[in-house]
Amino acid sequence: MNTPGSSLSQFIEEYPLYSRFGTDQPIETADLDNLAFNFFCQKEKEVQPFRLSIPSSNGNGIHPSSQPHHSAEGFTEIFTGVCQSCEEYKITVVINAASGEEPPRYFIRKIGQDPAPGSTAVKLPDDVAGFLDDEGRECYRKALSNLEFDYGVGTLAYIKKMLANGVDRIIEALSNTYSDAGGKFAEAFNSYKQDGQRTRFIEEATPHFPESLKEHGASSLLVLYDALSLSVQELTEKECIKKSKDIDTLFRYMTRKLTAEIQETSQKKVNGKYFMRYS
Ligand SMILES: [Zn+2]
Repeated sequence: MNTPGSSLSQFIEEYPLYSRFGTDQPIETADLDNLAFNFFCQKEKEVQPFRLSIPSSNGNGIHPSSQPHHSAEGFTEIFTGVCQSCEEYKITVVINAASGEEPPRYFIRKIGQDPAPGSTAVKLPDDVAGFLDDEGRECYRKALSNLEFDYGVGTLAYIKKMLANGVDRIIEALSNTYSDAGGKFAEAFNSYKQDGQRTRFIEEATPHFPESLKEHGASSLLVLYDALSLSVQELTEKECIKKSKDIDTLFRYMTRKLTAEIQETSQKKVNGKYFMRYS
């Protein structure tokens, strides 16, 4: 059974409507049935554990046949999420899974949600939000709201404001928390700020990254740092959306790994069944 923290739970909890998530194998309705996730209960006014179920066994499905589909062709189904705390508050999520010609071959997306996700209801994951102050979190929420409506320029503008806040904190964490390595990381980063030599930075800084970030940490950090100087005006709507999603993915990746390292809970790794990414 999926537990909160699996990739599918995160998909339900955090990601904006209409965004396609590529997966490496077809998703079936059974994968979502009984899925545990965390969500804001409007009755209790706090985030609670929820559980997803498929109501289409009683004929509520969108398909004319009203049978849950679970073939590689995909499905569009209405799911109900019930708060496990009060057992009364419910949300409805319409999920579409399909496959396409171009990679990623399989994808899943939320195409409807009731009550509608409001900007204050956009739930930022704790381990990610922990790297932002109040203003940064507000910018992040606005970026995700803009993303829901496919507003590229707006999304990227808010993502950049969010990053201005978040990147500093990431650098702070890398510079301080790991004492000896922290000092060497800070040194390498300062040289990069002066000479802009990416390859050198990656070579010099990588050994001083925490274990779980050794592989992609240095280059991910550079992408985030360089995104601060992106010019929104020079990009098309489509390019803004693409960049925003890449930045969002990397920011989540880095902050999650860092939080896990800091809390030393990295041994408690949660591996979802699917490898998911924006497409
Ligand atoms: Zn509740």
